[in-house]
Amino acid sequence: MTKTLTKPTRIRRKHVPTSEVMDLLGKEYGPVEWVPRYGPASELVSTILSQHTSDVNSHRAFSSLMEHFGTLDAVADGPVEEIEEAIRMGGLAKVKAPRIKDVLQRVRDMVGSFDLSFLGEMPLPEAKAWLKSLPGIGPKTAAIILCFSLGMPAMPVDTHIYRVSKRLGLIGAKVSADAAHDILEPMVATEDVFAFHMYLIQHGRAVCKAQRPKCGRCVLASGCPSRRLFE
Ligand code: SF4
Repeated sequence: MTKTLTKPTRIRRKHVPTSEVMDLLGKEYGPVEWVPRYGPASELVSTILSQHTSDVNSHRAFSSLMEHFGTLDAVADGPVEEIEEAIRMGGLAKVKAPRIKDVLQRVRDMVGSFDLSFLGEMPLPEAKAWLKSLPGIGPKTAAIILCFSLGMPAMPVDTHIYRVSKRLGLIGAKVSADAAHDILEPMVATEDVFAFHMYLIQHGRAVCKAQRPKCGRCVLASGCPSRRLFE
């Protein structure tokens, strides 16, 4: 009897699984620990200040703002020109000052205070929706507040995460940074979301740089569909 030999089917992976990315980057960069930063309302202000500037400048601007006004209530009630002056070293002060005042007033009107800890008790999608209903708050700022202030498994997609995820094929080439939030977050185990976020930023800064990524020394290279583009 003649046996028909069938060619073994090769299963092609569309992208490297996020669990594998976690393992490899975890070995490369070591454990990460979540340490709370500011309270949620302060984080909100700090995140607005961090737009289009370095971390150093935005931290300076936040410290200067709080030194000048003392409380978030005083910032919300303060003249825009004074807020602008206090945050000048952070850049784009003319744009950021009215935005900060506006959003703080809105929060106080809605909640009666700046205590946003109730968000931590909400299901994640509801907490996100609440924050995104505030003026000028998009998915990234909402995720930063929920992740860094409240320890919720929200994934802020910054420029490094966006670039590395695209190169790894985790998100499509045409997906916007805003849309990437809802795609990437469910791809990662809840308990790994914070570490995944930190690892991808670290990897984007050190290895998978915007210009000339160092694919030759990248621990993700064997599963990365973009490697050949840079060789
Ligand atoms: S192989 Fe190259 S393009 Fe792919 S993740 Fe590593 S550094 Fe980035």
